[in-house]
Amino acid sequence: MIEKAERLLQTYYGFSSFRKGQEQAIRQVLQNENTLAVMPTGGGKSLCYQIPGLALEGTAIIISPLISLMKDQVDALVAYGISATYINSSLSATEQRERIRDMEKGRYQFVYVAPERFDSGAFLATLQRMELSLIAFDEAHCISQWGHDFRPSYRSIVPTLYQIPNLPVLMALTATATQEVIQDIQRLIHVEPDAIVNTGFARENLSFRMIKGRDKRDFVKEYVKSRPEEAGIIYTATRKDADHLQQYLEKEGYSTGKYHAGMSENQRKEMQTKFVRDEITTIVATNAFGMGIDKSNVRYVIHYSMPMNIESYYQEAGRAGRDGEPGDCVLLFSSQDIQLQRFLIDQSPVEEKKKEEYAKLQSMINYCHTSMCLQQYILEYFQDPNSTEPCGKCSNCTHDGKEQDMTKEAQMVLSCVKRMGQAFGAGLTAKVLKGSSDKKVRQFQFEDLPTYGLLSHYTEKQLTRFIHFLTAEGYLNPGNGRYPTLQLTSKSVEVLKGQKPVIMLIESTTTNVEENYNVEY
Ligand code: ADP
Ligand code: ZN
Repeated sequence: MIEKAERLLQTYYGFSSFRKGQEQAIRQVLQNENTLAVMPTGGGKSLCYQIPGLALEGTAIIISPLISLMKDQVDALVAYGISATYINSSLSATEQRERIRDMEKGRYQFVYVAPERFDSGAFLATLQRMELSLIAFDEAHCISQWGHDFRPSYRSIVPTLYQIPNLPVLMALTATATQEVIQDIQRLIHVEPDAIVNTGFARENLSFRMIKGRDKRDFVKEYVKSRPEEAGIIYTATRKDADHLQQYLEKEGYSTGKYHAGMSENQRKEMQTKFVRDEITTIVATNAFGMGIDKSNVRYVIHYSMPMNIESYYQEAGRAGRDGEPGDCVLLFSSQDIQLQRFLIDQSPVEEKKKEEYAKLQSMINYCHTSMCLQQYILEYFQDPNSTEPCGKCSNCTHDGKEQDMTKEAQMVLSCVKRMGQAFGAGLTAKVLKGSSDKKVRQFQFEDLPTYGLLSHYTEKQLTRFIHFLTAEGYLNPGNGRYPTLQLTSKSVEVLKGQKPVIMLIESTTTNVEENYNVEY
């Protein structure tokens, strides 16, 4: 059976071998075993149901909550010479009826439908009269309350389906890998524990890079210049930033698109179409851009400033390299980004959620300051059981700077935090260590502390960054309130006792001298 699958892979798609997880998923479905496939975006989930759909007799029904993507999927299949169609509300009632009639006659090997199709019993009744090869639930996390995009009507389909006598093998596919979601889908769709194919969250073709202390506009200009033919998205935190950056790039002679919620629907549609068709290669956008955009050849995603949490970051950065080819994910960090995101959380009307949002923001800040492999950091954040080796290509893995023993400086910072009563954030702590005569420093009489001015040969900015680094590495706990209050941890106690060295990577190539740590040495 699997030889047949391999033949189909070559004849229809022209691919020589299966990707990780595909073979197991396909084998199970061909053996009539309900299967849950958890694979990252771009991992090749579609083939997991398309190959069995081709190999088995009857029509494959694919349920997908993303109406905008159905047409592209169908067009792709038709281009491979496979009979496929979609039935959704974008069609006239007559067209819908015609397609359902043709479907019942068995004219299609693949039919894509939205969950709402099952709201009336008529569609289900039609399915009962047909020969079905399989039913696939795409974006299956939407059927779980634990998923980030829960659709109750999607969930309620499953029990209905179990009433039909000719129920074929079921398949669920998602890129969301939290344990709760997996277990929920597994129970609902009746998937045996060993029939879960989970290749994890890792996007092996993506390289993550963190850039600090550079002029952001200048960086983007040089970057776009160096990749003239390649498609890329530059995400800004605000509409104003998107407007300004796009104007700047245009002025510098780089034609770029723009997309944000302040533009009319027509303008947005036009931009999206131009980008998908490669008529414009670079697009400057807010996070309004992306949902439901299927463009597989995006080669880079630059974040012009730090997003609010790792979830958004990974989703947005993950729009690069969906075709499996290399994708570059760059985050341009500056400390003002933190203030902006705090402000945005403050604006949120839902009071109960704020605490959680601040905690998520802190993990994002830590990502910007950690010296651990960036890919690994993300996988650990999502508690991916598959996370293992450092990726070898993120900016921390490939760091060409040198390691600096910062144990003494760390001890001074930690001791200062302790003497300040563990009740203040990075900003004020940096001021005290710098020896600043700031109003707040005087107000709390921190000038009298023995740690006052102890690290005055650093700039305040360097000290703030060093404190963020210590936080990211777990030497300090920022708490989870609106204003971080730095507290010592068990790890910091070891440092203070001299039982643990603190090693930090020092950038060797930074254009902005002031941002560079080693200028002081
Ligand atoms: P997902 O739905 O998981 O995001 P897709 O099914 O859209 O991913 O596949 C992503 C890309 O990888 C597509 O361009 C697809 O043609 C390609 N692809 C999938 N499987 C293979 C394979 N075995 N060999 C080569 N390319 C593949
Ligand atoms: Zn790495």
